[in-house]
Amino acid sequence: FWVMELDKMDENDWKYHGEGNKSLVVSHLQHCQVLRLLKFPSEDSAHTRQTAEQAFRHILNIVDYSKYVMKPLLGEKYVHSGEVVKLPLDFVRQLSLKVQQERPELRCDKVMDTFSGCGLCLPNLTQLPLHHLRDHRPPICVEIKPKCGFLPFSRHITKECKRKVCRFCMHQHYKLANGKWKRLSRYCPLDLFSGSKQRMYVALKNLLEEPQNNLKIFKGGELIFSCKDDAKQQPDLNDLVQHLRPYFPHSNGLYNGHQPGKAVLNEFIQVICSALLSGGDSNRSGESRKVHLSESRPLCEASPFPRDLLRNGNQGLPKDSVLAKILQVQMLDNLDIEGIYPLYKRVEQYLEEFPKERNRLQIDGPYNESFMDTVKNCPVEDDGSVEYAVGKVHQYRVAMTAKDCSIMITFAPCEEDEEHQLNLEKPRLTYSISILDLDPKPYEGIPHQHKLDTKIVNYYLRSTQAPP
Ligand code: ATP
Ligand code: ZN
Ligand code: MG
Ligand code: MG
Repeated sequence: FWVMELDKMDENDWKYHGEGNKSLVVSHLQHCQVLRLLKFPSEDSAHTRQTAEQAFRHILNIVDYSKYVMKPLLGEKYVHSGEVVKLPLDFVRQLSLKVQQERPELRCDKVMDTFSGCGLCLPNLTQLPLHHLRDHRPPICVEIKPKCGFLPFSRHITKECKRKVCRFCMHQHYKLANGKWKRLSRYCPLDLFSGSKQRMYVALKNLLEEPQNNLKIFKGGELIFSCKDDAKQQPDLNDLVQHLRPYFPHSNGLYNGHQPGKAVLNEFIQVICSALLSGGDSNRSGESRKVHLSESRPLCEASPFPRDLLRNGNQGLPKDSVLAKILQVQMLDNLDIEGIYPLYKRVEQYLEEFPKERNRLQIDGPYNESFMDTVKNCPVEDDGSVEYAVGKVHQYRVAMTAKDCSIMITFAPCEEDEEHQLNLEKPRLTYSISILDLDPKPYEGIPHQHKLDTKIVNYYLRSTQAPP
């Protein structure tokens, strides 16, 4: 076990690993560890910037939220909360300079925080820590940002289409119109969360064809497949096949000639499917109890999956599977933003009158066991109280985090009789599944979410129901 020596940090031991909207991640060259550093808009002036003290509180909130809220809800085995570290400012500044040229252009609207010296230290989930170097093939890691896997069922919904077309599919049209992406993704989260192998297969195939920011693939910790910085360019599936071939040797001979890559991709998708339906890292699969998280697992009307192939019967997700865990937490959003927004306004009105109550109600944390109790014990019926409103707003925010998290599936070839294997005849793979990016979503973001929901739905209705 390697302990980071904070006073001996050297930027040459770290390299750019990746980034999202809120943070930039660097990985250690030798050890299975990453540092996650926050980013902020580059136009923020010095006096609107967080103080070092605020930045520290912010990162502590992230860790607490993961530890005391998301981990109990999603399961111990899937969540790694990490540790807050105080880094030398000189190290952070050098690091920031070093990674700048590696950063994708579309992310450069924000800059890395080089002022607070605060960061988060996490295990590098693209690697397998116990993967000995007995095999020459490095681990493959598939990162999926699945997004919301159910159709809202709240009685507060005012637009019928929200009950038929999922949020992701509607949002696609809006993003295309706003130039965020150049092509529509055919991925539908409802297919991935269906528990039906057929539908999951289609969902994963569509992710491979148009990954956007919902799919990344790493080999030995290096990004080998993702959306291209140049939005017009499509990622190269043939290239991916070349990378994957050594992991699925027996499929190389299949279908020789015509579509040699197809068998490899087919097996690759099967492995991801099995992992997503398994209990995380055990041999159990298929057999475990299924959960039906809603009346039925309907098809989204925008999904390309053929409706006539939809079978009822043994659907649903295995209870311990990573998908079931995430879906369960997402479904804490049972009022929809349309039902939450009036409750948010109730809280706001109350806080205007009693501003000091903000702390007691834990609006901005701390995210501890007491926050978690409010989430778990929120009354079912609205009694008109501010407590009810706060409880539902907390639940909504927790659900939002689960709608925005990523799943990491990391696998590698293993020896014959090792434990923790995917329940597949061939190939023999050892694997591990984690959930990451479990940051709290800000309370202040609710009015924006409400506006965005209206915009997305209205745009969808306008663009798909052309005037007669
Ligand atoms: P988003 O815009 O999705 O909210 P974010 O800014 O919150 O993203 P993360 O998703 O946590 O940031 O991290 C950005 C990327 O860094 C991830 O998509 C993942 O590829 C990589 N990453 C983050 N944490 C780890 C980890 N522990 N191990 C390996 N890679 C990681
Ligand atoms: Zn959909
Ligand atoms: Mg992310
Ligand atoms: Mg995030």
